[in-house]
Amino acid sequence: MTSLLSRVSGAERSSAPGPRTPPAAVEPFRAQARRRLARADLLGFLAWVSPVVAVALWLADGGAGGFSSFAGTATGLGIVAGLVGMDVVLLMLLLAARIPLIDNTIGHDRALEIHKSLGKPALYLLLAHGIFIAIGYGVAEGLDPISESVSLWVNVPDMWLAFVAMALFIAVVVTSLVAVRRRFPYEFWYAIHLLTYAAVATAIPHQFSVGGLFAEGTWQRWYWLAICIGTGAALLFFRIYQPLAATARHQLTVSRIVRVAPDVFTIEMTGLRLESLAGSGGRFFIWRFLAPGFWWQPHPFSLSAEPLPATGTTAGKLRITVRNLGDGSARLARLRPGTRVALEGPYGMFSTAARSRNKVVMIGAGIGITPLRSLLESTPFEPGNATVLLRGHDESELFLGQEIMALCQARGATLFHLTGPRSARPNEWLPESAVHAGFTLRDYVPDVANADVYVCGPAGWASQVVKDVQAAGLPAEQLHYERFDW
Ligand SMILES: Cc1cc2nc3c(=O)[nH]c(=O)nc-3n(C[C@H](O)[C@H](O)[C@H](O)COP(=O)(O)OP(=O)(O)OC[C@H]3O[C@@H](n4cnc5c(N)ncnc54)[C@H](O)[C@@H]3O)c2cc1C
Repeated sequence: MTSLLSRVSGAERSSAPGPRTPPAAVEPFRAQARRRLARADLLGFLAWVSPVVAVALWLADGGAGGFSSFAGTATGLGIVAGLVGMDVVLLMLLLAARIPLIDNTIGHDRALEIHKSLGKPALYLLLAHGIFIAIGYGVAEGLDPISESVSLWVNVPDMWLAFVAMALFIAVVVTSLVAVRRRFPYEFWYAIHLLTYAAVATAIPHQFSVGGLFAEGTWQRWYWLAICIGTGAALLFFRIYQPLAATARHQLTVSRIVRVAPDVFTIEMTGLRLESLAGSGGRFFIWRFLAPGFWWQPHPFSLSAEPLPATGTTAGKLRITVRNLGDGSARLARLRPGTRVALEGPYGMFSTAARSRNKVVMIGAGIGITPLRSLLESTPFEPGNATVLLRGHDESELFLGQEIMALCQARGATLFHLTGPRSARPNEWLPESAVHAGFTLRDYVPDVANADVYVCGPAGWASQVVKDVQAAGLPAEQLHYERFDW
């Protein structure tokens, strides 16, 4: 194989960084995957049922009776649109709340994908709510929809807050559209996005004070209060309390920065009780380095090694490996030892929790190689059951390549270095030399469809790998793809 620049196989032992606690028996991965898929089905079912329940609240209150007139029909449609729209907004907030049950079942990136896809439908439903209510109430009072809206704003308590909420929702959805979002820095988009909370808070009062559906004493009111308060509590707990508690518990500080390649460096940190973070594989945290000029920037970075618990006199250690892909990440190389670090997480499914088979294949390129290193260190497999494919322009781009080679030797994994210029042929992710020599995925991993495949690397390259493993018959639940760009 001409592209096979290095291959390590067998269970030779190495003194270089081997697994710190060699995983013993192979887990019953199929049962784990079945449980996870069952949880995903249950969460999906609850998500679909929740808007149905919202409409049922209204039907149980005799809402359908209004359909006998034009005004009643418009008002009824407006109420239904409002109920479903609000339900969808609450679902969106729950998806973004970083609730471990959701994150560990479908993955944080998938949760955010669904969250994003619900933005426009939620806005359309809320707009339809406002328009139909203005038409329905207006016809009943002999007013056109605009005059009716003005009258609602002026005369009905809490209604002006609902109008403000609508304006905020529109601002949030428009600034989240990909074309608009790309024009602004992440922090600007994030600040506008926080308006969602203001929008929801301002939308809530009129739901309880206007109309009879949620009037005092009704069971509908208790249900609606419960889902609003439950969502708010989940956000406060998982987005605010937990990160603050984790930061206080682990007391992380930067201990040293080690250059790995001209534009890649490893940040090592020490802290307390890191054993409770162990077993995370290539999961990621959101880090904030608490130094002037740095603290306000959150950075998602994956672990590039399993956390090392404290022993006797040595403090616990963990580390991330960073490529300077933008202004913020480049500046991180200048962090001083002793800088305090705040963390949120661990998040993501790039870990043993996603395994469904005994065989495992890890395919990485560029900085995407680094979370594979920590996964390789911690995920259980028998010698001969793991294959690692690393892609880079040359050996120096196979970041942490030496450490990965030592781990492969220690654990009996097969390692391929796929280096060399890109292939000019479309849909190729292997280097030109391999393609030219006629090699395909199956030459490296003949039994790929019977393994869990972890993919991490630049988006365009990774999407070709994903297509290739799917074409080789890999079922969706065995593919685990970490994106660095959500
Ligand atoms: C799950 C995940 C894991 C990653 N792991 C690694 C890794 O191990 N090594 C590595 O080198 N790169 C990793 N990245 C990519 C890395 O986070 C970005 O390259 C880096 O944050 C860019 O920061 P910047 O300030 O240089 O660039 P800019 O694009 O200018 O970013 C500006 C600011 O926005 C923040 N930001 C951008 N996207 C997000 C987001 N989705 N969530 C929160 N804040 C965000 C940035 O951190 C920064 O504070 C990962 C990304 C993700 C989503």
